Amino acid sequence: MKKGHKSFQSLRGMKDILAEDHLYYDSVLWTAKKIFEFYNFQRIETPLLEEAELFAKGVGKKTEMIEKQMYLLRNKENKELLALRPEGTAPVMRAYLEKGMFNLPQPVKLYYFGPFFRHEKPQAGRYRQFYQVGAEIIGEDDAAIDAEIILISKVFLESLGFPKKDIYLLINSIGCLDCRRLYIREIKRHYKKHNKQICSDCRRRLEENPLRVLDCKNEKCFLVKEEVPSILDYLCSECRDHFKSVLDYLDYLNIPYILDKTLVRGLDYYTKTVFEFYLDSKSNKISLGGGGRYDKLAEAIGGFEKPAAGVAFGVERLIQEMIQRGKKLKLPAPKLFLVQIGEPAKKMSFKILEQFRKENIPLGENLGKESLKSQLKTADRLGAQYVLILGQQEVLDGMIILKDMRSGLQELIPLDKIIPEVKKRLQRQNSK
Ligand code: AMP
Repeated sequence: MKKGHKSFQSLRGMKDILAEDHLYYDSVLWTAKKIFEFYNFQRIETPLLEEAELFAKGVGKKTEMIEKQMYLLRNKENKELLALRPEGTAPVMRAYLEKGMFNLPQPVKLYYFGPFFRHEKPQAGRYRQFYQVGAEIIGEDDAAIDAEIILISKVFLESLGFPKKDIYLLINSIGCLDCRRLYIREIKRHYKKHNKQICSDCRRRLEENPLRVLDCKNEKCFLVKEEVPSILDYLCSECRDHFKSVLDYLDYLNIPYILDKTLVRGLDYYTKTVFEFYLDSKSNKISLGGGGRYDKLAEAIGGFEKPAAGVAFGVERLIQEMIQRGKKLKLPAPKLFLVQIGEPAKKMSFKILEQFRKENIPLGENLGKESLKSQLKTADRLGAQYVLILGQQEVLDGMIILKDMRSGLQELIPLDKIIPEVKKRLQRQNSK
Protein backbone atom coordinates (compact mmCIF):
# COMPACT_ATOMS: atom_id res chain seq x y z
CA MET A 1 0.00 0.00 0.00
CA LYS A 2 1.37 3.44 -0.94
CA LYS A 3 2.27 5.62 2.05
CA GLY A 4 -0.37 8.21 2.79
CA HIS A 5 -3.05 6.38 0.79
CA LYS A 6 -6.25 5.28 2.47
CA SER A 7 -6.78 1.52 2.53
CA PHE A 8 -10.40 0.39 2.33
CA GLN A 9 -11.99 -2.34 4.39
CA SER A 10 -15.40 -3.93 4.28
CA LEU A 11 -17.89 -2.23 6.60
CA ARG A 12 -18.34 -3.43 10.18
CA GLY A 13 -20.73 -6.36 10.30
CA MET A 14 -20.36 -7.02 6.55
CA LYS A 15 -18.01 -9.50 4.94
CA ASP A 16 -16.71 -10.73 1.63
CA ILE A 17 -17.88 -14.18 0.70
CA LEU A 18 -14.85 -15.90 -0.83
CA ALA A 19 -14.73 -19.04 -2.96
CA GLU A 20 -14.32 -21.43 0.00
CA ASP A 21 -17.21 -19.72 1.85
CA HIS A 22 -19.37 -20.11 -1.23
CA LEU A 23 -19.07 -23.88 -0.98
CA TYR A 24 -21.04 -23.64 2.29
CA TYR A 25 -23.54 -21.05 1.03
CA ASP A 26 -24.13 -23.21 -2.06
CA SER A 27 -24.57 -26.30 0.05
CA VAL A 28 -27.29 -24.54 2.12
CA LEU A 29 -28.93 -23.21 -1.06
CA TRP A 30 -28.92 -26.61 -2.81
CA THR A 31 -30.33 -28.32 0.25
CA ALA A 32 -33.07 -25.66 0.46
CA LYS A 33 -33.83 -26.14 -3.26
CA LYS A 34 -34.02 -29.90 -2.88
CA ILE A 35 -36.25 -29.86 0.19
CA PHE A 36 -38.53 -26.89 -0.51
CA GLU A 37 -39.05 -27.79 -4.15
CA PHE A 38 -39.96 -31.33 -3.18
CA TYR A 39 -42.71 -29.84 -1.00
CA ASN A 40 -43.88 -27.74 -4.00
CA PHE A 41 -42.42 -24.38 -3.00
CA GLN A 42 -41.40 -22.09 -5.86
CA ARG A 43 -38.41 -19.80 -5.65
CA ILE A 44 -38.90 -16.04 -5.40
CA GLU A 45 -36.32 -13.25 -5.21
CA THR A 46 -37.63 -9.82 -4.24
CA PRO A 47 -35.53 -6.64 -4.77
CA LEU A 48 -33.01 -5.60 -2.12
CA LEU A 49 -34.70 -2.18 -1.96
CA GLU A 50 -38.32 -1.58 -1.02
CA GLU A 51 -40.33 1.40 0.17
CA ALA A 52 -39.49 1.83 3.86
CA GLU A 53 -43.19 2.12 4.61
CA LEU A 54 -43.74 -1.51 3.60
CA PHE A 55 -41.67 -2.60 6.59
CA ALA A 56 -43.09 0.03 8.97
CA LYS A 57 -46.61 -1.16 8.16
CA GLY A 58 -45.77 -4.85 7.95
CA VAL A 59 -43.25 -5.40 10.73
CA GLY A 60 -44.54 -2.63 13.04
CA LYS A 61 -43.39 0.96 13.63
CA LYS A 62 -42.50 0.34 17.26
CA THR A 63 -40.23 -2.67 16.73
CA GLU A 64 -36.44 -2.50 17.14
CA MET A 65 -36.05 -3.52 13.51
CA ILE A 66 -37.95 -0.50 12.23
CA GLU A 67 -36.91 2.03 14.86
CA LYS A 68 -33.21 1.25 14.95
CA GLN A 69 -32.04 -1.27 12.42
CA MET A 70 -33.13 -0.24 8.93
CA TYR A 71 -30.66 1.09 6.37
CA LEU A 72 -32.56 3.97 4.82
CA LEU A 73 -31.88 6.02 1.72
CA ARG A 74 -33.74 8.52 -0.39
CA ASN A 75 -34.61 8.23 -4.03
CA LYS A 76 -33.08 11.19 -5.92
CA GLU A 77 -36.09 11.92 -8.14
CA ASN A 78 -39.03 11.87 -5.78
CA LYS A 79 -37.34 11.78 -2.38
CA GLU A 80 -39.16 8.57 -1.54
CA LEU A 81 -37.78 6.86 1.57
CA LEU A 82 -36.35 3.45 0.68
CA ALA A 83 -35.01 0.66 2.88
CA LEU A 84 -32.53 -2.13 2.26
CA ARG A 85 -34.73 -5.10 3.10
CA PRO A 86 -34.30 -6.10 6.76
CA GLU A 87 -36.45 -9.24 6.41
CA GLY A 88 -38.13 -11.32 3.73
CA THR A 89 -41.75 -11.92 4.68
CA ALA A 90 -43.22 -8.43 4.07
CA PRO A 91 -41.64 -8.21 0.55
CA VAL A 92 -42.88 -11.71 -0.33
CA MET A 93 -46.39 -10.76 0.77
CA ARG A 94 -46.08 -7.50 -1.22
CA ALA A 95 -45.20 -9.55 -4.30
CA TYR A 96 -48.05 -12.00 -3.63
CA LEU A 97 -50.56 -9.13 -3.56
CA GLU A 98 -48.99 -7.10 -6.38
CA LYS A 99 -48.71 -10.06 -8.76
CA GLY A 100 -52.25 -11.26 -8.00
CA MET A 101 -51.02 -14.61 -6.71
CA PHE A 102 -54.32 -14.86 -4.80
CA ASN A 103 -55.79 -15.88 -8.18
CA LEU A 104 -53.60 -19.00 -8.26
CA PRO A 105 -54.66 -22.23 -6.58
CA GLN A 106 -54.13 -21.64 -2.86
CA PRO A 107 -52.05 -21.95 -0.81
CA VAL A 108 -49.14 -20.36 -2.65
CA LYS A 109 -45.81 -21.74 -1.44
CA LEU A 110 -42.70 -19.62 -1.95
CA TYR A 111 -39.10 -19.87 -0.79
CA TYR A 112 -36.20 -17.43 -1.02
CA PHE A 113 -32.45 -17.20 -0.42
CA GLY A 114 -30.57 -13.92 -0.30
CA PRO A 115 -28.98 -11.09 1.66
CA PHE A 116 -30.72 -8.95 4.28
CA PHE A 117 -29.56 -5.85 6.13
CA ARG A 118 -29.97 -4.80 9.75
CA HIS A 119 -27.98 -2.13 11.54
CA GLU A 120 -27.45 -4.24 14.67
CA LYS A 121 -24.46 -4.39 16.98
CA PRO A 122 -22.16 -6.92 15.28
CA GLN A 123 -21.17 -9.90 17.43
CA ALA A 124 -20.73 -13.66 17.03
CA GLY A 125 -23.42 -14.85 14.61
CA ARG A 126 -24.83 -11.33 14.18
CA TYR A 127 -23.99 -9.34 11.08
CA ARG A 128 -25.29 -6.22 9.39
CA GLN A 129 -25.49 -8.00 6.07
CA PHE A 130 -26.49 -11.64 6.42
CA TYR A 131 -28.23 -14.27 4.31
CA GLN A 132 -31.53 -15.85 5.09
CA VAL A 133 -33.26 -18.81 3.56
CA GLY A 134 -36.98 -18.64 4.15
CA ALA A 135 -40.26 -20.22 3.13
CA GLU A 136 -43.84 -18.97 3.21
CA ILE A 137 -47.21 -20.68 2.74
CA ILE A 138 -49.84 -18.06 1.91
CA GLY A 139 -53.60 -18.51 1.73
CA GLU A 140 -54.61 -21.02 4.42
CA ASP A 141 -55.31 -20.66 8.13
CA ASP A 142 -55.47 -24.37 9.01
CA ALA A 143 -53.23 -25.52 11.86
CA ALA A 144 -51.88 -28.23 9.52
CA ILE A 145 -50.05 -25.46 7.61
CA ASP A 146 -48.22 -24.37 10.78
CA ALA A 147 -47.26 -28.02 11.38
CA GLU A 148 -46.18 -28.40 7.74
CA ILE A 149 -43.83 -25.38 7.96
CA ILE A 150 -42.32 -26.79 11.15
CA LEU A 151 -41.96 -30.27 9.69
CA ILE A 152 -40.27 -28.98 6.52
CA SER A 153 -37.94 -26.80 8.63
CA LYS A 154 -36.91 -29.86 10.56
CA VAL A 155 -36.38 -31.93 7.42
CA PHE A 156 -34.27 -29.06 6.04
CA LEU A 157 -32.08 -28.95 9.19
CA GLU A 158 -31.67 -32.73 9.16
CA SER A 159 -30.75 -32.66 5.47
CA LEU A 160 -28.01 -30.16 6.28
CA GLY A 161 -26.55 -32.89 8.50
CA PHE A 162 -27.74 -31.82 11.96
CA PRO A 163 -28.70 -34.88 14.02
CA LYS A 164 -32.40 -35.19 14.84
CA LYS A 165 -31.69 -35.41 18.57
CA ASP A 166 -29.82 -32.07 18.57
CA ILE A 167 -32.57 -30.02 16.94
CA TYR A 168 -34.97 -28.46 19.33
CA LEU A 169 -38.03 -26.43 18.80
CA LEU A 170 -39.42 -23.72 21.06
CA ILE A 171 -43.05 -22.92 20.43
CA ASN A 172 -45.74 -20.58 21.72
CA SER A 173 -48.94 -18.93 20.58
CA ILE A 174 -49.36 -15.18 20.80
CA GLY A 175 -53.03 -15.37 19.83
CA CYS A 176 -54.99 -12.86 17.82
CA LEU A 177 -55.33 -9.13 18.44
CA ASP A 178 -58.23 -9.73 20.84
CA CYS A 179 -56.45 -12.18 23.12
CA ARG A 180 -53.31 -10.11 22.97
CA ARG A 181 -55.18 -7.01 24.19
CA LEU A 182 -56.14 -8.84 27.39
CA TYR A 183 -52.68 -10.29 27.80
CA ILE A 184 -50.95 -6.95 27.31
CA ARG A 185 -53.07 -5.51 30.11
CA GLU A 186 -51.86 -8.38 32.31
CA ILE A 187 -48.20 -7.89 31.33
CA LYS A 188 -48.40 -4.20 32.17
CA ARG A 189 -49.91 -5.01 35.54
CA HIS A 190 -47.22 -7.59 36.29
CA TYR A 191 -44.30 -5.39 35.20
CA LYS A 192 -45.60 -2.25 36.90
CA LYS A 193 -45.78 -4.21 40.16
CA HIS A 194 -42.01 -4.79 39.78
CA ASN A 195 -41.20 -1.41 38.30
CA LYS A 196 -37.96 -1.02 40.28
CA GLN A 197 -36.58 -4.41 39.22
CA ILE A 198 -36.70 -3.83 35.46
CA CYS A 199 -34.36 -2.09 33.02
CA SER A 200 -35.08 1.34 31.55
CA ASP A 201 -35.61 -0.21 28.07
CA CYS A 202 -38.41 -2.37 29.46
CA ARG A 203 -40.00 0.66 31.11
CA ARG A 204 -40.05 2.30 27.69
CA ARG A 205 -41.26 -0.90 25.98
CA LEU A 206 -44.16 -1.11 28.44
CA GLU A 207 -45.41 2.20 27.14
CA GLU A 208 -44.68 1.68 23.44
CA ASN A 209 -44.91 -2.04 22.65
CA PRO A 210 -45.46 -4.07 25.84
CA LEU A 211 -45.06 -7.57 24.33
CA ARG A 212 -41.45 -6.69 23.53
CA VAL A 213 -40.52 -6.83 27.26
CA LEU A 214 -40.50 -10.60 26.78
CA ASP A 215 -37.60 -10.25 24.28
CA CYS A 216 -35.47 -8.46 26.89
CA LYS A 217 -32.09 -10.10 27.46
CA ASN A 218 -31.11 -7.87 30.39
CA GLU A 219 -30.32 -9.91 33.52
CA LYS A 220 -32.02 -7.30 35.65
CA CYS A 221 -35.39 -8.26 34.19
CA PHE A 222 -34.82 -12.01 34.38
CA LEU A 223 -36.85 -12.74 37.53
CA VAL A 224 -39.76 -10.53 36.52
CA LYS A 225 -39.82 -12.23 33.14
CA GLU A 226 -39.71 -15.69 34.76
CA GLU A 227 -42.86 -14.93 36.69
CA VAL A 228 -44.78 -13.38 33.84
CA PRO A 229 -48.21 -14.97 33.29
CA SER A 230 -48.49 -17.26 30.29
CA ILE A 231 -50.24 -15.88 27.23
CA LEU A 232 -51.72 -19.35 26.72
CA ASP A 233 -54.06 -18.60 29.65
CA TYR A 234 -55.41 -15.58 27.77
CA LEU A 235 -56.10 -17.12 24.37
CA CYS A 236 -59.63 -16.91 22.99
CA SER A 237 -61.29 -20.23 22.23
CA GLU A 238 -60.46 -20.06 18.50
CA CYS A 239 -56.75 -19.36 19.11
CA ARG A 240 -56.61 -22.00 21.86
CA ASP A 241 -58.14 -24.64 19.58
CA HIS A 242 -55.81 -23.65 16.74
CA PHE A 243 -52.74 -23.97 18.93
CA LYS A 244 -53.94 -27.26 20.42
CA SER A 245 -54.40 -28.56 16.93
CA VAL A 246 -50.84 -27.48 15.92
CA LEU A 247 -49.45 -29.34 18.95
CA ASP A 248 -51.57 -32.40 18.13
CA TYR A 249 -50.04 -32.51 14.65
CA LEU A 250 -46.54 -32.17 16.10
CA ASP A 251 -47.24 -35.03 18.51
CA TYR A 252 -48.57 -37.13 15.66
CA LEU A 253 -45.44 -36.34 13.60
CA ASN A 254 -43.20 -37.16 16.56
CA ILE A 255 -41.70 -33.70 16.57
CA PRO A 256 -40.66 -32.82 20.13
CA TYR A 257 -41.17 -29.22 21.28
CA ILE A 258 -40.70 -27.04 24.32
CA LEU A 259 -43.51 -24.68 25.20
CA ASP A 260 -41.95 -21.28 25.87
CA LYS A 261 -44.37 -18.75 27.30
CA THR A 262 -41.92 -15.87 26.74
CA LEU A 263 -41.37 -16.56 23.03
CA VAL A 264 -42.96 -13.66 21.12
CA ARG A 265 -40.40 -12.93 18.32
CA GLY A 266 -39.34 -9.44 17.35
CA LEU A 267 -41.81 -8.68 14.60
CA ASP A 268 -45.35 -7.36 15.08
CA TYR A 269 -46.93 -9.26 12.19
CA TYR A 270 -47.10 -12.58 13.99
CA THR A 271 -50.44 -14.01 15.13
CA LYS A 272 -51.12 -17.35 16.83
CA THR A 273 -48.20 -19.80 16.40
CA VAL A 274 -44.61 -18.60 16.84
CA PHE A 275 -41.56 -20.87 16.99
CA GLU A 276 -37.77 -20.93 16.96
CA PHE A 277 -35.20 -23.60 16.20
CA TYR A 278 -32.04 -24.10 18.24
CA LEU A 279 -29.28 -26.67 18.22
CA ASP A 280 -28.45 -28.41 21.40
CA SER A 281 -24.86 -27.31 21.69
CA LYS A 282 -23.15 -25.26 24.33
CA SER A 283 -21.61 -22.93 21.78
CA ASN A 284 -24.97 -21.97 20.37
CA LYS A 285 -27.30 -19.86 22.41
CA ILE A 286 -28.64 -18.06 19.38
CA SER A 287 -31.51 -19.18 17.26
CA LEU A 288 -30.84 -20.76 13.88
CA GLY A 289 -34.21 -19.77 12.57
CA GLY A 290 -37.75 -19.01 13.46
CA GLY A 291 -41.15 -18.18 12.17
CA GLY A 292 -44.84 -18.51 12.74
CA ARG A 293 -48.26 -17.52 11.51
CA TYR A 294 -48.97 -14.01 10.27
CA ASP A 295 -52.63 -13.77 9.36
CA LYS A 296 -52.83 -9.95 9.47
CA LEU A 297 -49.75 -9.00 7.43
CA ALA A 298 -51.51 -8.84 4.04
CA GLU A 299 -54.14 -6.52 5.46
CA ALA A 300 -51.55 -4.36 7.24
CA ILE A 301 -49.74 -3.67 3.96
CA GLY A 302 -52.87 -2.66 2.11
CA GLY A 303 -54.31 -5.92 0.90
CA PHE A 304 -57.12 -7.99 2.28
CA GLU A 305 -56.99 -10.64 4.96
CA LYS A 306 -54.82 -13.55 3.81
CA PRO A 307 -53.75 -16.09 6.39
CA ALA A 308 -50.15 -17.31 6.08
CA ALA A 309 -47.27 -18.96 7.91
CA GLY A 310 -43.54 -19.04 7.30
CA VAL A 311 -40.01 -19.56 8.54
CA ALA A 312 -36.58 -17.97 8.01
CA PHE A 313 -33.15 -19.38 8.82
CA GLY A 314 -29.93 -17.43 9.23
CA VAL A 315 -27.53 -18.91 6.66
CA GLU A 316 -24.33 -17.75 8.43
CA ARG A 317 -25.52 -19.39 11.63
CA LEU A 318 -26.27 -22.66 9.83
CA ILE A 319 -22.81 -22.54 8.23
CA GLN A 320 -21.10 -21.75 11.53
CA GLU A 321 -22.75 -24.80 13.10
CA MET A 322 -21.93 -27.02 10.10
CA ILE A 323 -18.25 -26.05 10.42
CA GLN A 324 -18.20 -26.44 14.19
CA ARG A 325 -19.60 -29.92 13.75
CA GLY A 326 -16.75 -30.86 11.45
CA LYS A 327 -18.23 -30.39 7.97
CA LYS A 328 -15.27 -29.74 5.67
CA LEU A 329 -15.78 -28.54 2.11
CA LYS A 330 -12.76 -27.94 -0.11
CA LEU A 331 -12.41 -26.25 -3.45
CA PRO A 332 -11.64 -28.82 -6.15
CA ALA A 333 -8.15 -28.29 -7.58
CA PRO A 334 -7.67 -29.12 -11.30
CA LYS A 335 -5.63 -32.29 -11.68
CA LEU A 336 -4.24 -31.00 -14.97
CA PHE A 337 -2.35 -27.84 -15.84
CA LEU A 338 -1.52 -26.53 -19.31
CA VAL A 339 1.88 -24.89 -19.82
CA GLN A 340 2.60 -22.98 -23.02
CA ILE A 341 5.89 -21.60 -24.29
CA GLY A 342 5.99 -19.10 -27.15
CA GLU A 343 3.30 -17.22 -29.07
CA PRO A 344 2.08 -20.08 -31.39
CA ALA A 345 1.69 -22.36 -28.34
CA LYS A 346 -0.16 -19.64 -26.43
CA LYS A 347 -2.62 -19.27 -29.32
CA MET A 348 -3.06 -23.02 -29.67
CA SER A 349 -3.73 -23.19 -25.89
CA PHE A 350 -7.01 -21.29 -26.34
CA LYS A 351 -8.20 -24.10 -28.64
CA ILE A 352 -7.00 -26.85 -26.30
CA LEU A 353 -8.81 -25.23 -23.36
CA GLU A 354 -12.04 -25.23 -25.37
CA GLN A 355 -11.63 -28.90 -26.27
CA PHE A 356 -11.14 -29.79 -22.60
CA ARG A 357 -14.11 -27.64 -21.55
CA LYS A 358 -16.36 -29.46 -24.03
CA GLU A 359 -15.22 -32.77 -22.53
CA ASN A 360 -15.82 -31.35 -19.05
CA ILE A 361 -12.23 -31.95 -17.92
CA PRO A 362 -10.98 -29.11 -15.67
CA LEU A 363 -7.66 -27.70 -16.88
CA GLY A 364 -5.60 -25.09 -15.02
CA GLU A 365 -3.57 -22.51 -16.96
CA ASN A 366 -1.90 -19.12 -16.87
CA LEU A 367 -1.95 -17.69 -20.37
CA GLY A 368 -0.38 -14.47 -19.10
CA LYS A 369 2.92 -16.11 -18.24
CA GLU A 370 5.82 -16.90 -20.58
CA SER A 371 8.40 -18.87 -18.65
CA LEU A 372 8.28 -22.63 -18.23
CA LYS A 373 9.68 -22.38 -14.71
CA SER A 374 7.04 -20.03 -13.35
CA GLN A 375 4.18 -22.00 -14.96
CA LEU A 376 5.49 -25.28 -13.52
CA LYS A 377 5.73 -23.61 -10.14
CA THR A 378 2.05 -22.57 -10.32
CA ALA A 379 1.05 -26.10 -11.39
CA ASP A 380 2.96 -27.46 -8.41
CA ARG A 381 1.36 -25.00 -5.97
CA LEU A 382 -2.10 -25.94 -7.25
CA GLY A 383 -1.28 -29.60 -6.70
CA ALA A 384 -1.68 -30.62 -10.37
CA GLN A 385 -0.90 -34.28 -11.01
CA TYR A 386 -0.25 -33.92 -14.72
CA VAL A 387 1.12 -31.02 -16.72
CA LEU A 388 0.61 -30.66 -20.44
CA ILE A 389 3.50 -28.76 -22.05
CA LEU A 390 3.14 -27.13 -25.43
CA GLY A 391 6.20 -25.48 -27.06
CA GLN A 392 6.91 -24.14 -30.54
CA GLN A 393 8.22 -27.50 -31.81
CA GLU A 394 5.21 -29.42 -30.42
CA VAL A 395 2.83 -27.05 -32.22
CA LEU A 396 4.70 -27.67 -35.49
CA ASP A 397 4.67 -31.47 -34.94
CA GLY A 398 1.06 -31.64 -33.70
CA MET A 399 2.27 -33.13 -30.40
CA ILE A 400 2.08 -32.25 -26.70
CA ILE A 401 4.20 -33.32 -23.70
CA LEU A 402 2.42 -35.07 -20.85
CA LYS A 403 4.42 -34.80 -17.63
CA ASP A 404 3.55 -36.85 -14.54
CA MET A 405 4.37 -34.48 -11.67
CA ARG A 406 4.88 -37.26 -9.14
CA SER A 407 7.30 -39.46 -11.12
CA GLY A 408 8.69 -36.62 -13.24
CA LEU A 409 8.29 -38.86 -16.37
CA GLN A 410 7.49 -37.10 -19.63
CA GLU A 411 5.86 -38.55 -22.76
CA LEU A 412 5.19 -37.07 -26.14
CA ILE A 413 1.56 -37.60 -27.19
CA PRO A 414 -0.17 -36.63 -30.47
CA LEU A 415 -2.37 -33.60 -29.83
CA ASP A 416 -5.48 -35.32 -31.19
CA LYS A 417 -4.96 -38.23 -28.74
CA ILE A 418 -4.33 -36.18 -25.61
CA ILE A 419 -7.93 -36.08 -24.36
CA PRO A 420 -8.53 -39.87 -24.47
CA GLU A 421 -5.06 -40.39 -22.97
CA VAL A 422 -5.72 -38.02 -20.09
CA LYS A 423 -9.19 -39.54 -19.51
CA LYS A 424 -7.64 -43.01 -19.35
CA ARG A 425 -5.09 -41.92 -16.76
CA LEU A 426 -7.58 -40.05 -14.61
CA GLN A 427 -9.93 -43.03 -14.69
CA ARG A 428 -7.13 -45.40 -13.73
CA GLN A 429 -6.31 -43.11 -10.82
CA ASN A 430 -9.93 -42.85 -9.66
CA SER A 431 -10.35 -46.61 -9.63
CA LYS A 432 -7.23 -47.12 -7.45
P1 AMP B 1 -35.82 -13.09 12.05
O1 AMP B 1 -35.94 -12.60 10.63
O2 AMP B 1 -35.44 -12.02 13.00
O3 AMP B 1 -37.00 -13.90 12.46
O4 AMP B 1 -34.58 -14.06 12.08
C1 AMP B 1 -34.56 -15.35 11.50
C2 AMP B 1 -33.16 -15.89 11.60
O5 AMP B 1 -32.26 -15.09 10.85
C3 AMP B 1 -32.57 -15.87 13.01
O6 AMP B 1 -32.97 -17.01 13.73
C4 AMP B 1 -31.09 -15.86 12.74
O7 AMP B 1 -30.63 -17.17 12.47
C5 AMP B 1 -30.99 -15.05 11.46
N1 AMP B 1 -30.61 -13.65 11.76
C6 AMP B 1 -31.41 -12.65 12.18
N2 AMP B 1 -30.71 -11.51 12.34
C7 AMP B 1 -29.42 -11.79 12.02
C8 AMP B 1 -28.20 -11.06 11.98
N3 AMP B 1 -28.15 -9.77 12.28
N4 AMP B 1 -27.06 -11.71 11.60
C9 AMP B 1 -27.09 -13.01 11.26
N5 AMP B 1 -28.22 -13.76 11.28
C10 AMP B 1 -29.37 -13.18 11.65
